[in-house]
Amino acid sequence: MSINKNIRHADKNLDQSIKLLLNIKDSHISFSKEAVAKRKVRGHMATVFTGFLSYDPPRCPHCGLTSVNRHSFKKTMIQLLPYQEVPTYLELYKQRFYCKDCHHTFTAETYYVQKHCSIAQSLKFAIAVDLKKKISMKEIAKRYYVSTKTVERVLDAFFVETRLKLNYLPKHLLIDEFKGTKDCPGAMCFIISDADTGKIFDILDDRRNFKLKAYFMRFTWKARKQVRHVVMDMNAAYDKVIKEVFPKAMISIDRFHIIQQLTRALNKQRIQAMKRLNKNNAQARKDYRKFKKYWRTILKKNAKLNYTSRKQFPLFQKKYLVESEVVDYLLSIDSDLRVCYEVYQDLLITFDAKDFKIFFELIETLPATLPTEFKKSVKYLTKHKKAVINSLQYPYSNGKLEGKNNLIKVIKRIAFGFRTFRHLRRRVMVQQSLFTII
Ligand SMILES: [Zn+2]
Repeated sequence: MSINKNIRHADKNLDQSIKLLLNIKDSHISFSKEAVAKRKVRGHMATVFTGFLSYDPPRCPHCGLTSVNRHSFKKTMIQLLPYQEVPTYLELYKQRFYCKDCHHTFTAETYYVQKHCSIAQSLKFAIAVDLKKKISMKEIAKRYYVSTKTVERVLDAFFVETRLKLNYLPKHLLIDEFKGTKDCPGAMCFIISDADTGKIFDILDDRRNFKLKAYFMRFTWKARKQVRHVVMDMNAAYDKVIKEVFPKAMISIDRFHIIQQLTRALNKQRIQAMKRLNKNNAQARKDYRKFKKYWRTILKKNAKLNYTSRKQFPLFQKKYLVESEVVDYLLSIDSDLRVCYEVYQDLLITFDAKDFKIFFELIETLPATLPTEFKKSVKYLTKHKKAVINSLQYPYSNGKLEGKNNLIKVIKRIAFGFRTFRHLRRRVMVQQSLFTII
């Protein structure tokens, strides 16, 4: 490739300024008067710096002899960090060399950009730093005008996995699952975190029991014995495997999930009540809309309802009501819902008081008038009686609860859109500072 004479004629002052601006410390790169231009690159208006890279002919890398001459130039486009939010490139003409002895040609090199790479090291580093933040891969790609593939490559190249120490496991574990990527063999991923610090310990691509067993069995007997408490989701069938791998561990259910079991049961009854309404009746249609709109009010704990201040409720003809009156009205429509509601509230109160004795007494002596479906959902808790009692007796699962649920939300957000589990895991581990930057 021929090179414009003007470009090859370096301008000392400008050369220094541009190198200062672009943070180039390689004296073999030079800039001339016509070094900066605005032009379209890959469909975007960009700032393009044009320079050249040249130095005295080195020894031939193929035969080791000094019979090397300067040859033509090779034009390369190197993407830099965007400057003032405009994509920025370095159009670098690299000196080619020719060996008279072995007839090989080769290209001049610089630390500023890796061989065969069109992205500056500084840009890659900026991407690596952003990978540690709570932003999606797509967002990072957009920010630097690169493809998500490039972001993935940085994720692969810039971080090294800290080797798992097999002689340590957190004393209190939180385990959960979340929807995985397409290549996950069990469709769901498994997440292990430390209940005390709220930090992620590891993420696995498979939640099936035999896989979990194989994973945990790699740890030393001493490490597994240290695990004293495992907190998990009620519907998860991990009891057996946990007892096998952690001989001293007690299982408890995430308190959030116990409450969720109750709220879901009541919510279903509200929907049943709506279905029972006669759609041909104008008043019933209005009630239907009220049930639909005030679902959250029905689920509220009694103690949190407002009994004093009046305000307008849109579906109540703009009458001034207190919140408790809205609930009273809705419960007056459907007697089934009313019985369920009373049981629900009683259970919440005893649960909050951590009075597991009365909590289970209530469940065992449910009123005969209670709808079967609701009864079944509530009775389900007795299947996990011991784990429910454990969760009421040991306070930390509650304390870390919010943090944990937020963490999983964050993971779901940053894990969104990954095609492979390997990248998903790397990203989460990088974000959690569990992988170190190279
Ligand atoms: Zn040679």
